Amino acid sequence: MALRSSLQAPEFNHKALVQQWHSSYQTGDFLSTLKQHWREYVLVAFQASDDQTRSERLTIKYLLSPLEHFLCNGEPEAVFQQLKEKDQPSQLCGHVFKNGEPTYSCRECATDPTCVLCMECFQTSVHKQHRYRMSTSGGGGYCDCGDAEAWKVGVFCGKHQPQSDEMEESKNPMELIPDDLIDRASVLFLATLRYTVEMLTWDHSDRLPDNLQPDGELTDNYVCMLFNDEVHTYEQVINTLQRAVSCTHKEAVDFATTVDKEGRSTVTTGSFSDCEKARNLIEKDSSEPLRRYTSRHGAKALKVQVMHTAVVAHQQFALRMIQWLQNIIVQSDGLRHLFCQLSMQQQENEQSLMEILLLADTQLWKTARVQSHQLMMAGVLMDQECKKKFSIIFTRHYTNLMKAFCMDDHDHDVSIASLSVQIFTVISLARLLVAEHNLLAVIIKTFLQACEEKKNKDGKLTFERTGTQTFKRACFSLHDLKYALICKPGSGEWTDELRNSFIEGLTCFLDLLKLIEDMDQVKRQTGQHLEFEPEWEGAFNLQLKLEDNIVLFLDWCSTDRQVLIEAYNRTIEAFRCCKDIDKIKTTKIEVDEWSAKCIKYDVGSQPISIHLPVTRFLAGLHSLLGQHELYFESPDCSLVRPDPAELIEFPLRVQVMVAQSNANMWRRNGYALINQIFFYHNVKCRTEMYDRDILMLQIGASMADGNEFLIHLLYKFGLPIWAKESYDTPSGQDNSLRQTVLLAEEFLNLVVIILSERYMMGVGEVTRADIVKREVIHQLCISPLAHSELAKALPEDTNHETGLEDVVKDVANFKKATVGKGAQGGKGKYELKPEFLSSYNPYFYHYTKTDKSKSEEAQVKRKKENNESQALPPPVPPKFKPQFAPIMNLLQCDVMIYLMELILTRAAATRSRSLSETQLERILHLIGIALHEQRRAITDGNTEFDFLSKAKKDGKCIQTLLESIVNSHNFTHDSIRDLVTWTLKTLSEVRQMKNEPVSMDTVEKVSSPRDEKAKAAREKKRIAAEKRRQKIMAQMSQMQKNFIKDNSELFENTSTELFPRIDSDMDLSETDTSSLPIAVGPHRTLPGQSSPMCGMCILCQEEQEITLSNKAMVLTAFIQKSTVLALTRGNALSHGDEYDPLLMRSDLSTGSHTSSCGHMMHADCWQRFFDGILERERRRPLRFRHNFSYDIEKMEFLCPLCECISNSVIPVLPAIFPTTQASNSDSCTHLHFHDWLDGIHKTVLNSVKESEDFDDAEYQTCPLTTVTKQMAENVAQKFHSLWSCIQDPMASAGLSLEHREMLRKYSRDAYSFGLGVDPDDDNARVPIMVWNTCAFSIQSIEQILRDEGKPLFGQMSSRQSDCLRSLVRVAATYSPAINTDIVKQHCIKLLSFLFPDACKNKKFDLCVLDVDMFHYLVALVMSLPSLHLDTSVAPSNYLQLPSGGDNELHALHLVLAVHLIQILLLYDQGDCGMEVDGDYEGEALLIIYNKIHSLANIQKENPPLPWQLSVHVRKTMLPFLRCTAILFHYLTGVTAPAELSESSEESSKQEFDSLCRYLGINLHMSRLVDNHGELMDTLVTRWCKNSVLKETLSASSQPLVQYPLKINKLISLPDDYSELINKVSAFTCPKSVGDDSRAPTMCLVCGKMLCSQSYCCQTEFEGVTVGAATEHAYRCGAGAGIFLRVRECQILLLAGRTKGCFVPPPYIDAYGETDQGLRRGNPLHLCRESYDHLQKLWMSHAIPETIAHNLESNATLLTIDWQHL
Ligand SMILES: [Zn+2]
Ligand SMILES: [Zn+2]
Ligand SMILES: [Zn+2]
Ligand SMILES: [Zn+2]
Ligand SMILES: [Zn+2]
Ligand SMILES: [Zn+2]
Ligand SMILES: [Zn+2]
Repeated sequence: MALRSSLQAPEFNHKALVQQWHSSYQTGDFLSTLKQHWREYVLVAFQASDDQTRSERLTIKYLLSPLEHFLCNGEPEAVFQQLKEKDQPSQLCGHVFKNGEPTYSCRECATDPTCVLCMECFQTSVHKQHRYRMSTSGGGGYCDCGDAEAWKVGVFCGKHQPQSDEMEESKNPMELIPDDLIDRASVLFLATLRYTVEMLTWDHSDRLPDNLQPDGELTDNYVCMLFNDEVHTYEQVINTLQRAVSCTHKEAVDFATTVDKEGRSTVTTGSFSDCEKARNLIEKDSSEPLRRYTSRHGAKALKVQVMHTAVVAHQQFALRMIQWLQNIIVQSDGLRHLFCQLSMQQQENEQSLMEILLLADTQLWKTARVQSHQLMMAGVLMDQECKKKFSIIFTRHYTNLMKAFCMDDHDHDVSIASLSVQIFTVISLARLLVAEHNLLAVIIKTFLQACEEKKNKDGKLTFERTGTQTFKRACFSLHDLKYALICKPGSGEWTDELRNSFIEGLTCFLDLLKLIEDMDQVKRQTGQHLEFEPEWEGAFNLQLKLEDNIVLFLDWCSTDRQVLIEAYNRTIEAFRCCKDIDKIKTTKIEVDEWSAKCIKYDVGSQPISIHLPVTRFLAGLHSLLGQHELYFESPDCSLVRPDPAELIEFPLRVQVMVAQSNANMWRRNGYALINQIFFYHNVKCRTEMYDRDILMLQIGASMADGNEFLIHLLYKFGLPIWAKESYDTPSGQDNSLRQTVLLAEEFLNLVVIILSERYMMGVGEVTRADIVKREVIHQLCISPLAHSELAKALPEDTNHETGLEDVVKDVANFKKATVGKGAQGGKGKYELKPEFLSSYNPYFYHYTKTDKSKSEEAQVKRKKENNESQALPPPVPPKFKPQFAPIMNLLQCDVMIYLMELILTRAAATRSRSLSETQLERILHLIGIALHEQRRAITDGNTEFDFLSKAKKDGKCIQTLLESIVNSHNFTHDSIRDLVTWTLKTLSEVRQMKNEPVSMDTVEKVSSPRDEKAKAAREKKRIAAEKRRQKIMAQMSQMQKNFIKDNSELFENTSTELFPRIDSDMDLSETDTSSLPIAVGPHRTLPGQSSPMCGMCILCQEEQEITLSNKAMVLTAFIQKSTVLALTRGNALSHGDEYDPLLMRSDLSTGSHTSSCGHMMHADCWQRFFDGILERERRRPLRFRHNFSYDIEKMEFLCPLCECISNSVIPVLPAIFPTTQASNSDSCTHLHFHDWLDGIHKTVLNSVKESEDFDDAEYQTCPLTTVTKQMAENVAQKFHSLWSCIQDPMASAGLSLEHREMLRKYSRDAYSFGLGVDPDDDNARVPIMVWNTCAFSIQSIEQILRDEGKPLFGQMSSRQSDCLRSLVRVAATYSPAINTDIVKQHCIKLLSFLFPDACKNKKFDLCVLDVDMFHYLVALVMSLPSLHLDTSVAPSNYLQLPSGGDNELHALHLVLAVHLIQILLLYDQGDCGMEVDGDYEGEALLIIYNKIHSLANIQKENPPLPWQLSVHVRKTMLPFLRCTAILFHYLTGVTAPAELSESSEESSKQEFDSLCRYLGINLHMSRLVDNHGELMDTLVTRWCKNSVLKETLSASSQPLVQYPLKINKLISLPDDYSELINKVSAFTCPKSVGDDSRAPTMCLVCGKMLCSQSYCCQTEFEGVTVGAATEHAYRCGAGAGIFLRVRECQILLLAGRTKGCFVPPPYIDAYGETDQGLRRGNPLHLCRESYDHLQKLWMSHAIPETIAHNLESNATLLTIDWQHL
């Protein structure tokens, strides 16, 4: 943008300016003086530059600093410092939370869950020792430390604890400030705030307020400003911008990000017409995509505005001003107080500036809102006096603010409406607002207005399936209502004013409930299924939001008698009004000889609603009456009382509907009904639905005559006919018999519930703790449960507390889980204490059907095991409260006795068509309750209750009937028979208590043996058991499949014998134990004669011997790039095309790892299997591709047996070593090392042909004779024989074509996956990659074993050993079999590295310190046999394989020597061990040490002591020797000595010796270098006298590799999870300055924090847009990553760009449970075991495998866009 010259260099004199202000401020309008200055300088600072730092610098210089100087009349810093010292620091912490910051709430002391502490306060508060909850802030809100209303105890943290002199508190903080400062501050605050408000609410886009308008015409500099909306997606905005303002994708993303974050963004600048054009384009373009997809959505265009740059500049300055003001007012309490008063002062238009800002909220863009809210919070809300004023204004405008919010589309938390939580939750404020400003009515009326549009013609709410945003937004009022209700007054706190306004609020609330009462009515479908599932969720959502409010309203009513009476009367009025009680018709119903007038209504055919909030609220109020000695009939209560029958009618209808639905009568009403019934009973809703209905029935039962009540029930259930004695005599007519039987069962169930559910406040003599206890007991009767499972099953109170923790210890024991292998943490479980088992009630009304049958099963099983009676009798219920005691009359009323006798008679009959065992069980249960009550009545001396006399009054006495059925053979369950027995016994006992004569033989009869029954029962059980067994078998085979899935972890030590796999070959065969085995060199042990190796194909199940002549077999394999062993991070190999892998760098930065699940197949079986997958994939439509746990493009497949991810196969080869010694084992015929070295040296010298241009040398092996010619005769012969005559069994047979093909296949994959390049069989690097992956996999497994402290052999898992065996054999076989010429070249090239004199011109850029010698060793051993192989002479199938002979021994010697020099050169003292006396080895090493250091020209200050060196070398050589032992073990098949398979302390001390012996090398490492002739010395000199080496050693910045190579670990994590949360709350997106990151994610490998799952940090990687985590996974982990998503508290695994999964985090709460998503908020601590588990998972390269398994078992994971994380 062109700058106006006048903007560039305005005259500026700071001092003069301030001086001028000083002299003018008292005289008049200070604001205009300021504006004069701003008119120019605001444009200078803001208009001209996109450079934010420059703009900020100018702002401070020209604009803010003069203000501060004016304010202070001196140096601002000094003045502020003075103010601070005088300041009485506020005892409120008031720390404003950033998004994602941790917050803590005390579950014991907080007034409500919105009261929170910041981390700093929490750490020094008493609540740290309490039960607390941790969560992350959504931003906004502040720390409540110091607020006496927020905390019951522990109001202050250690930091904010007030000083002892509390007298000062009342002092006006402004008195501490000098008067002149106050004067200046007043004009300044007022002026700046006015300006700010004016500019933020300025709605002209092309001109400024008069006194800010620059002189003359405005320049033609405009911007096109894009505003945020919630309609368009990120992608839509980006696409639109790219098209409309032709910017790059990156720019568009940046614009979109800014719009999303700040609410608006400039998208283009230029002349007015340019911007106008852009605006049109954007609006047009953005409205199109929507139209294309759906016409219904309308075509809302993006909001764009063309604004003059000057306007934008002033608005930006206004925002900056807000920040500045905040900064100033925190300097002292006095200043803040002054600022608050001024901002609340009424201005000309009678509104205060804060009020203007408040009302303008929805007109502002996002940042402007957020900033102004923050100013309010730091200002008026921190000041007690102003807060009150502000709250009153807020309440006055509440309706308008909510209306504006509903029409707006910004999130609630960036709306001014969200300040309600800051205001209404302050108890004293809320109380004031409720009493004096009618807050409750205001809120509810606001909500009722929003409800208007949802009303149907009957005046009930109705919702459509696609709910509108507006109504959802309006529902935020219900939260506000809850906040307002938290300030529940105690019984002494009520005033008449409060009473009146509360009742007014309640009346409004009842109006709301009336809109819901009877909504969503349903009618039973009989003929056809419902065509459309009716909408049902809306009503339940509303119910959920109302629940807390209902509870709180009831709580308020409970504390004041007068209020309760008034509320009760109003509610009855509401009830009568919406039920049309007067129009109800009745009908007379008879049952046997009794009758009642029932309300005529057929649930089966007339409409019915499950929503009865008014009725239920009435029930709730009724249960409170007792507290104030009020009764239904109390004269205070409503004069027009409903009839009990009317009260129970509506809840009863719902019960009948549920019963009918259980009897399958509502099948045709579809899922909507089933869902409604489900939620009606669900723990989330039941407290204010189902439970209240039962309560209402109990209320009815307590007021009505027992007989009548039962007849009402029978009638509604449609059972009067069933209750006729004659019903049992078959008439052959009743089609609905089955239904009637079920309904009768449901009816009895309801009666049981009405009688036995007394655990409700006001109903039974119970405490709140008793109620929770009972819930817990019944949950635990189903099965032991984890803490979270138990908590989930319990209802929450309005503070989201279940009360679980207070009672659970009384009734249950917590059993910590024993951490098993691979177990994720230890999730402990609660088990019920045995003494509470007797409280079990199978008819517990919160049980679902499944719960009931599961718990019964569990209890019967337990009793059976203990040899107890299997009866599940009713537990003794608590006493009813007096008000509810009349319910007991149900038990002794005539109809009840009649029903008892009726059912018992039917049970005693030989055949009964209408009886079911369930009915019998239930009637026995009822009799049981009656007997319990009888017993209590006798004890209490209560003669009114006399069940016993009633029960034997008539002809059919209950006892006789029971006796007649006790020995019946009709029962299918022993538990019923036992229940009859129990009932009889109890009956006799109770009769005895009443001193009635009881014949003892009844009791005896009862306990008589029941042989026959038992026999029949046993037979039945046997059949059942057989059936179950078969079922289990079927399940088992399913489980086995799953087991394979779940347990194929790499760390399994033993193979499961279930699956065919390689027979362990010679490893375990008995060899000669007398001599120790030696694997390499002239003295090597012959492998024992072993049984042939066999394998079974998992695909065709055929077993065969593994030979070269048989069909080829392969193992599944997964090859991946790996940085697990890397000693430097962040530079994983990414350009495989240019990389020369021959010399692996010693920091192991990227290796290639091969693993296998160990499952074997025929090569051709596998090929068919794989072709099948390809075929299936090809047929799949394109758009369904990729949604797989394996990526077919990358040749991935799942092992057909265990579903382990694989991308290649390794050929399984037979043993490759000769079974007979190559030549006579006469040692003197063997070649000496120095001769071998000499021969190799000569070979190398003759094989490297340097060309003219220095860089490129040619490597062509010279003929063997060229070398031998230069040797002494006998030496030449021996040297020659190294390559001549090894006849091995494979050679004769040769490799079959199939084997060759599989070798080729594997090497191709090792090459292309190992380097990340396209396959290329002819590439020279193919053999190198085969060797490298072999070396790397060995090193990796060696580290795992070392890390776990396991011995080298013996405890390797079978999948590890199978894989390594195959890898070693393939590497050995591949080289000569496939590509001898290239291998020869590589061999020369390798050797020339150690014989640098071969290349005179070439400068090596690597020294001996830079190369990993184990990789070198593997390559050398594998290539050496081919070195002098004469391909022209040898037959094509002739194989020259490494066999552990002289060649290998000498090669090992050479490489070890180099490694020793590496170790000595890098030795760093500080290593301590026990001093060893007379250590000759140490002396020898020291000589070498000194020699090589002087050769390298490096002087060490104090050379080590001999013994130190000796100890160090032994320790440091170990990893290399261990790897080498693994290599030669699989190469030669020589059994490792027993010491290497043991993990005793002794054997680990001896490990070094054992390894040396096994490898056939001298125990004294110094001998590797000493006394091997001149050549060796020359070589050592050449290695050390090397400029590269010198550079490496001196460059202190470069971290040198240390030996022994350290084992990488995942980063260490803090014990307390909140530390992590706190850490990430300070983390900001690295790409956009100062912004929080939405999904901060931590790499567990290197500890780097990333801004994941966010547009801001997406990058291009290999041509694809990827998220920060994916990109990092490539750099840090070569494609595989393991991350901790801190906000979500979960582990993210990523592999191969498109795949990932989440696994549980290593953090657990006190109950051993993780909290993914941090939903429960229990304090979390690091679980070592599960972190170790993750560590192992990473070390063993199991990330891709874990991901594949997770994706397989959880299809929803496939839909996640992993690459954008
Ligand atoms: Zn705090
Ligand atoms: Zn504090
Ligand atoms: Zn506490
Ligand atoms: Zn097969
Ligand atoms: Zn497998
Ligand atoms: Zn970012
Ligand atoms: Zn990393």
